[in-house]
Amino acid sequence: MKKVLFTHSYFYRFDPKQWNTQMPYPPYGTIYAAAAVREMGYEVALFDTNLRESPNEILPIIKKEKPDFLVIYDDGFNYLTKMCLTKMREAAFRLCEIGKEHGCTVMVCSSDSTDHFEKYLEQGADYVLLGEGEETLKDLLVKINSENFTPENIPGIVWQSEGAPQKNNRRPVLRDLDTLPDPAWDLVDIPSYKKIWMEAHGYFSLNFATTRGCPYKCNWCAKPIYGNRYNSRSPERVAKEIEYLINEYDVHYFWVCDDIFGLKPGWVQKFRDEVKKRNLNFKYKIQSRVDLLLKEDTIQALKDSGLDIVWVGAESGSQKILDAMDKGTKVEQIYEAGKKLKAQEIKMGFFLQFGYLEENWEDILLTKKMLLDIMPDDIGVSVSYPLPGTLFYDRVKTLMKEKQNWTDSDDLDMMYPATFPPTFYKQLHRWIHCLFRRKQGTTALQHLLRNPQDINPFLIKKIASLAYYAPAAILKKPQHKLAR
Ligand code: SF4
Repeated sequence: MKKVLFTHSYFYRFDPKQWNTQMPYPPYGTIYAAAAVREMGYEVALFDTNLRESPNEILPIIKKEKPDFLVIYDDGFNYLTKMCLTKMREAAFRLCEIGKEHGCTVMVCSSDSTDHFEKYLEQGADYVLLGEGEETLKDLLVKINSENFTPENIPGIVWQSEGAPQKNNRRPVLRDLDTLPDPAWDLVDIPSYKKIWMEAHGYFSLNFATTRGCPYKCNWCAKPIYGNRYNSRSPERVAKEIEYLINEYDVHYFWVCDDIFGLKPGWVQKFRDEVKKRNLNFKYKIQSRVDLLLKEDTIQALKDSGLDIVWVGAESGSQKILDAMDKGTKVEQIYEAGKKLKAQEIKMGFFLQFGYLEENWEDILLTKKMLLDIMPDDIGVSVSYPLPGTLFYDRVKTLMKEKQNWTDSDDLDMMYPATFPPTFYKQLHRWIHCLFRRKQGTTALQHLLRNPQDINPFLIKKIASLAYYAPAAILKKPQHKLAR
């Protein structure tokens, strides 16, 4: 029986900001692919890099297992892999090298390899799988050992021939996701993940996906794996997987790693019904859009099914910038969604983005105002990051510096000349955080003064943080006039 060793190229330790949060999630996309290959009768194993310190740790496993195929298959559901960070790319290259040194046929499937397949072929990869990989991988594995194998007949791959990459057309994405077997959770070292979560947070969380792709066209958003199609698993199938995870791993908090949760009309309501029918007890977090949240009874159905927090791409408080991004949402919708979620006691997280083309100081102030008016429960602040395959990238590519990828997710370097210099955006990032935390502290203080009986460690921590954030919110204000 042929052996397939799966791995991927994300190392939490190489991304200090993420490692410090101590919230690692197993490589869901990788175990999905592993399950699909195992179903074909191959022997599969997983070298999960997430919690490792070096790609070289794969060496003893390769030597022992002697796999025929090494498949470096990134978790395309995790937004961190979409950032195409250089530290992870270098790790992937090392994995390719080790695979080749040990006689494996090396296949790579990731956002970065889809965009830059030539780099991976140069590093020894035999095949790069473009975009969604399960069907392409299965097709390739079946045909590769046949007598008349010709890579030209496998849609969705790139390979090297006569010193140049040969690229076939992309394979259409899977439409019926329920045809896939459940992800191979048994390959993951769950206790190691659980230990990190429990020690840092006192609870454990796992991840799953209900959909693939996103039909919206925010013009900076790269979707090299699942693209603009949007396909869903059935609510029954998703609920069954949640039930399995609860029973098997005693986990009651989930991150639904879809780009957009519950876009199909009626899906969230059916999911709520399925959760109730099975009497499942859990909480979860999702990513969504403010316009979607405002549809019909969506917020109520989310609440009833256990939603804890929804992260939305608020991006900017300036309608001019939202329109320039082709975001398709209105600033008023952000305010309205914030109000409705608060009324239902659902938490809200904002992704904010600075430095988009033509954003000026007045636009930045509008974003600051929106943030402090609505006061979500958490924020993720970033700067515009041009990724290949986006309209935004096409607009700025002639202006881009030599550096085209961040090293890690906290890099935040501006890759093209925006309104202000790169140092300004780093200061802005810190200032916005300070303003937000200061307001959290003052709100907590006001609450405690009105309701002293509510005293708890969470409130005290927020109030104590004022000692740092109150002065920092003044001192760290970026000097926009000087910066120009
Ligand atoms: S809605 Fe989100 S996932 Fe979809 S295109 Fe916009 S940013 Fe990307």
